[in-house]
Amino acid sequence: MNRAYNFNAGPAALPLAVLQEAQAELLDFRGTGMSVMELSHRSKDYDAVHNEAKELLRKLLNIPSNYQILFLQGGASLQFAMVPMNFLSQDKTANYILTGSWSEKARDEAERFGQVKIGGSSKGETYSYIPALDSLEISGDEAYVHITSNNTIYGTQWREFPDTKGVPLIADMSSDILSKPIDVSKFGLIYAGAQKNLGPSGVTVVIVRDDLLDQAEQDLPTMLKYSTHVKSNSLFNTPPTFGIYLLGRVLAWIDSLGGVKAIEEQNEAKAAVIYDAIDQSDGFYTDHAAKDSRSLMNVTFNLATKELEQKFLQEAAAQGFVGLAGHRSIGGCRASIYNAVPPAACEALRDFMLAFKNKN
Ligand SMILES: *Cc1c(COP(=O)(O)O)cnc(C)c1O
Repeated sequence: MNRAYNFNAGPAALPLAVLQEAQAELLDFRGTGMSVMELSHRSKDYDAVHNEAKELLRKLLNIPSNYQILFLQGGASLQFAMVPMNFLSQDKTANYILTGSWSEKARDEAERFGQVKIGGSSKGETYSYIPALDSLEISGDEAYVHITSNNTIYGTQWREFPDTKGVPLIADMSSDILSKPIDVSKFGLIYAGAQKNLGPSGVTVVIVRDDLLDQAEQDLPTMLKYSTHVKSNSLFNTPPTFGIYLLGRVLAWIDSLGGVKAIEEQNEAKAAVIYDAIDQSDGFYTDHAAKDSRSLMNVTFNLATKELEQKFLQEAAAQGFVGLAGHRSIGGCRASIYNAVPPAACEALRDFMLAFKNKN
């Protein structure tokens, strides 16, 4: 077996131990004589899988009891619409802080449902930094403030979160949830597609505070109301059972490593290996993100010319490195180093980067 050095941006690497566990119990899950995929979502066997995943997430992120955990479908992209559908209307204003393409997409959906103001943006500098907290314009009477905690495409990440003067803070954490401890009580709602840091695509995690649910719009299609999924424990319709099972196994894996604090230390060390290679290259590699905004999850960098970048990507691919091309919207190179990417893969990439520089 030859596992690739997988730096895909999403869907992305999964822990080898989790894949092996899933493989071992694929045909006969916990004595049921069938795979998890074949269980009824109304059975007690599936119920245990579902609730175990919720409990592990609550434990790992220290989610207070006045927050509900939901497993939805439709990706982060459906959350771009569900958030304003539930919490915005024509007589209200939502505040969007723009730090990349995903923030813009979220903003575009909100504009369909109510007023939108932009409380901060780094678009003028190709989203290479996170705006300073004291530069943000938050008046305190908005319906909510929306941020993207990690900008997958541009490689920037919020280090600290803004004080929103009591306004609910809503965050798209698709690409850095569970990569470090966060204070959930600072947020009204958090959402994340699973396919970067939590498991396979097809599951979206939503963490929402009870008092927001009370204020939500009621005149919506049943499937698009958060309250529907709260009342039914995310079992209103058939959930993506196998994806939720794998998500639970990924959570158990993080727990076994020592939880999010331990993962954070590992993530910092992994990112340092690659950023050091950039910083010590005398300008052969240049980073896209400003130093104080660098993401620990997506390292974005350029080489001197497009031709050299092509050569770098081709030689990297030939040596077993996958997924290093930057997003099609900005080009360049990007190494996505989510929780499941092993430290050895980052060290191998560093060695390759040094060797490529010396030859070119
Ligand atoms: C990948 C990504 C998305 C899009 O997620 P889908 O599940 O494909 O809808 C949204 N926001 C961020 C920050 C992402 O990284």
